[in-house]
Amino acid sequence: MSITPLMPVYPRCGVRPVRGDHCHLIDEDGTRYLDFASGIAVNLLGHSHEGLIGAIQRQAATLMHVSNLYGSPQGEALAQRLVDTTFADTVFFTNSGAEAVECAIKTARAYHKSQGSDRFELITFKNAFHGRTMATISASNQEKMHKGFMPLLAGFKYVEFDDLEAAKAAIGPQTAGFLVEPIQGEGGIRPASMEFMKGLRALADEHDLMLVLDEVQCGVARTGKLYAHEHYGIAPDVLATAKGIGGGFPLGACLATEKAARGMGLGTHGSTYGGNPLAMAAGMAVMDAVANEEFLAEVTEKGERLRSRLEQFIGNYPELFELVRGKGLMLGIKMKVESRPFFAHLRDKHQLLTVAAGDNTLRVLPPLVAGDAEFDEFFDRLSAGAADYTVPETA
Ligand code: PLP
Repeated sequence: MSITPLMPVYPRCGVRPVRGDHCHLIDEDGTRYLDFASGIAVNLLGHSHEGLIGAIQRQAATLMHVSNLYGSPQGEALAQRLVDTTFADTVFFTNSGAEAVECAIKTARAYHKSQGSDRFELITFKNAFHGRTMATISASNQEKMHKGFMPLLAGFKYVEFDDLEAAKAAIGPQTAGFLVEPIQGEGGIRPASMEFMKGLRALADEHDLMLVLDEVQCGVARTGKLYAHEHYGIAPDVLATAKGIGGGFPLGACLATEKAARGMGLGTHGSTYGGNPLAMAAGMAVMDAVANEEFLAEVTEKGERLRSRLEQFIGNYPELFELVRGKGLMLGIKMKVESRPFFAHLRDKHQLLTVAAGDNTLRVLPPLVAGDAEFDEFFDRLSAGAADYTVPETA
């Protein structure tokens, strides 16, 4: 047998972490890596946050899982917290981002059904990433994710990201809404413009469409706001959140207004694990840490400092780097050469973990608790990495 016990769907690298220490990961051979990937925008409190660990330990010793057939004091408390701090009136808990997006897609379709309409199509945006389930790969135009899995789920129309006229032109009699990342993550840390986000909101209002935001990567304080849409002064009808909300514990949620959730009545959706007490304890510990003005202001301030240092730094290597973009501590360095080999070079030669993304972008996603010491170490490693980098022949 040549297949590996772990289904070989990931191009796994040689880094094999066995321990986390604040903003560092320690490999099984003892090598220390500076983690500015954060499990791809997940470990927002780093790897050894006492509040998060304590909450999980206490809850694990008390009650880990019960069925959603029972009342959930833990789920009610976290849902109330999210309702109090966001646009939402109601919350469905999931275990991942893709499941949160799935629930959001169903919520949008069910809204129109509840209005006596058959509108089911969501307008989505090129180079988006929404997850790896059938519905979420169908929502993305990226053919590399479709290969081998046809036919896709019907009901998605792809248009250019950040192109309001294209979005408007795509509206038809079957359109149920828009599904969009306010800041594309996998697509290369591409923030939508103010005009685009405000325009989508206006179009949704005008045509009674659902504005569904995928904030799985950009949500939960990453950009200096609890959710990224707050930068645009708009509110969605439905929002998918995950990654950071569990701080490393698998947790996601679909947030909706009362109006948008009209179709999501008894028996329409479910999940065995979604909203279990252990996940709720993790989510509450994360909210305790991040959902306050001081923490959010710190993320904004750190993001500005990191960005201006990055902008200065890339000027030293005009042949490698083009520009810096993003918001808060969700930053991307767009490269003039292929970003993947440079990302691997930083990882393997300089023990610096970042994440490669589309559009030849290097994602810089530090834990939100990183401070000056970690930023200095980051620049030491990045500078050394740029200084001894040779662009591969094929890149
Ligand atoms: N949506 C966005 C914007 C993401 O970045 C991701 C994951 O990278 C997902 C959805 C899917 O989340 P998960 O991998 O937890 O299913």
